[in-house]
Amino acid sequence: MAYLPVTQRCGHTTKLTIADGPLQAHYLQYHGGKLCESCRKQRVFEIAEKANADVWDRSRALGWVELRGTLKQIIYATSLRMKMVERMIQTAMDMGIPDYVADVYLEEMLANDAAKWWINNRDMNMVGLFEYPLDLS
Ligand SMILES: [Zn+2]
Repeated sequence: MAYLPVTQRCGHTTKLTIADGPLQAHYLQYHGGKLCESCRKQRVFEIAEKANADVWDRSRALGWVELRGTLKQIIYATSLRMKMVERMIQTAMDMGIPDYVADVYLEEMLANDAAKWWINNRDMNMVGLFEYPLDLS
């Protein structure tokens, strides 16, 4: 095994553990053709953002907090959050709940920036929101 610097496709140099032997040059070339981990994550994020441009733009336009969590959680939860809020507003309208009442609950919920919470509570509806205290963990 050798711990070697590899200049990757993005131009960043990463040190990688590469197996010794006749295939070492091949491994170096293979890894050199890839993005470094940080650029790869950024790229995945950009692709997801573009694919969900409508949801992301609307979330930002509405002033909703940027979610935190793993990249995967953030991408999933950003779409979920929009669907959940739309569903809750629809339910509130169907139930005849005045906007100013629903808004209080929605505002409290929307302050939650934990992507994990949105994923864990994705099936919550307006009734659930009224009946259960918010678990903000
Ligand atoms: Zn890079």
